[in-house]
This record gives sequence, C-alpha cells and structure tokens, in this order.
Amino acid sequence: MSQENLVIWSNGRFMPWGEAKTHPIGQGLHYGLLVFEGIRFYNTDRGPAIFRLQEHLERLFDSANVLRMVQDRRIKCLDASYSSDNLALIIKELIVRNGMSEGYIRPAFFYGGEKIGLDVAKSVIEGVIAVLPWVNPQREFLRVKTSPLRRIDPRSTDVTAKIGGHYVNSFLARLDAAETGFEETILLNGEEFVAEASVENIFALKDGIFYTPRLGTILPGITRATIMVFAGDLGLAVIEDNLEMEFFKRADEVFLCGTAMEILAVGEIDGVRIGKGGRGEITSQFAAMYRNVVEGRIGRYISWLTFANE
Ligand code: PMP
Repeated sequence: MSQENLVIWSNGRFMPWGEAKTHPIGQGLHYGLLVFEGIRFYNTDRGPAIFRLQEHLERLFDSANVLRMVQDRRIKCLDASYSSDNLALIIKELIVRNGMSEGYIRPAFFYGGEKIGLDVAKSVIEGVIAVLPWVNPQREFLRVKTSPLRRIDPRSTDVTAKIGGHYVNSFLARLDAAETGFEETILLNGEEFVAEASVENIFALKDGIFYTPRLGTILPGITRATIMVFAGDLGLAVIEDNLEMEFFKRADEVFLCGTAMEILAVGEIDGVRIGKGGRGEITSQFAAMYRNVVEGRIGRYISWLTFANE
C-alpha cells in the first residue's frame, strides 16, 4: 500500500494521509520539543498484534512528562487529552482502518501552534499517530564502528526520554558511520564505557553469560528488557555493568536490539572480527525466539500482544 493511501490520526481525527497538517512555525519543529515511540505490529493467527504496546505507551508518557505535556496521567493535545488507554484504542483502530496485517506505529506529540521561544506554558500540543509498512533488514550481520561522538549525557538531558531533539546525536553518529563505510555505530558514554548503537541497545555474550551496559546513559529499550526475560527463562545470567569496547571486541557474540531491527548480529567492530565472525549461535536462537514471540507462537508471552481486532 502506498503511503498516500493510508489513514493517519492527527490532532484528534482520523484522516487521509495528505490531510494531516501542522504550521512550520512551532517549538516542536524548531527545538526538537517532540516525544515519540516506535512500535511494531505483527501478523498472527488472531490477526495483527501489537508487541508490548503498554510498555511503549508507558515510555511515551514518561517522555511526555519530561517535556511537561502530561496532566493527570493524560497527554494534552489541543483542546482534548488522552490517557494511555485512549491512545491504545486509537492505535488499534488505525491498524484496522488501514487494513494492515503488520507494520510500524509512530505516535508523536509535539509543541506546535505558530510560536517560537522556549516558554511552553501557553503553547499548544499537537499529536499524530501513523502506521507505516515495515520491511525487516535482510542482513545476516552488521559491520560496525566505534563512534567518534559520545552519547548524549545524563548531566545534560534526560537520556531515558524519547525526545525528538535527542536524535540529532543518533543522526550525526549514523551519518559518520555511513560516510566512513560502516553499517552501524556504537557510541561510548561520557565515562568512555559503551552506551549503545544509534537506535539500538547492545549485548555481548561471553562464556555463556550475557553482558549489557547498565542503565543510566542509555535509552531503556523494550527489546533489551525482552531479551533479559528470555535469558532468565533459559537460565542464562545477564550482567548489567560498565563495559569497555575492548570487552565487546573479545566477546563470543555481540548483537544489537531494538523494535525496528529486532535482533541483529554484529560481525565485526572497528574491523575486529567478533567470535567466529558472522552471526553467532545464541544470537540466531534469540532472533528466532523473538520472531516466535512477536508472531504469537509462544503461549507464555501472549500477554505481551495486543490484538488490534479484539
Ligand atoms: N536506543 C535508542 C537511542 C533508541 O532510539 C531505541 C529505539 N527506541 C533503542 C535504543 C531500542 O529501544 P526499543 O527496544 O524500545 O525499541
């Protein structure tokens, strides 16, 4: 389905894609004062199912709270306000109206309203929710580099919030990778420990134990949390710690994880081959497990799915 034929939700109404409008003078656009989520839905036996919708909406509200868009657990948007349950219903309806069986969901709320300056006390908040077709990357593994840029620092902003302006950091890091011939990039934090990739969290596997950067300078990924549950179920320990890049280079397996790309192996870092190179055994096992879970084939994780038609 081409994008122009999609239905989008904008400022309280469902409408054809091309009718969603906002004024180019606004604080969201000019200063990145926007919060958003990236959510996936998958084709299952019970129709389209949204993966971990509650957790994504919770993070959306946490982000919105940082930008003072929330009152009484509702996000303000023009003259209305929306609870997490309201947004869940809108998202379900949007999937049904678009007749899509799988795809990507992008809700965003931002300061709009033909105003500049950094005072938002009287600003209007606008909102949009789009569903988009999504194709998974077909790559077996990635060649990545250590970014010359540091991940945004918790002493400068709330790094746990998905705020539009934060993504200048991810964008510039990814740009550097692309311009120097790499497929992804890993950013260190202000203490020179590994933080995360441009839009994914990172795991290493060494001698049967999982390692991942501790919370504090990273976005607390929902896929990261999912993997920690899987590991626990399989009896594998996960250590969250301050980890140096050298540790990742000497690991048996390394993978990145996020809603968009799911679980993707890292084959080499800065030209150093990881483990046997290519895609590791446990990484493959976890990637397959993730697919089975998001497509509703594993009963004990079914509560992570919200079925759009039910
Ligand atoms: N880090 C950053 C900076 C991200 O933007 C994302 C994508 N939301 C992630 C990690 C992975 O998070 P999740 O698993 O919740 O998609």
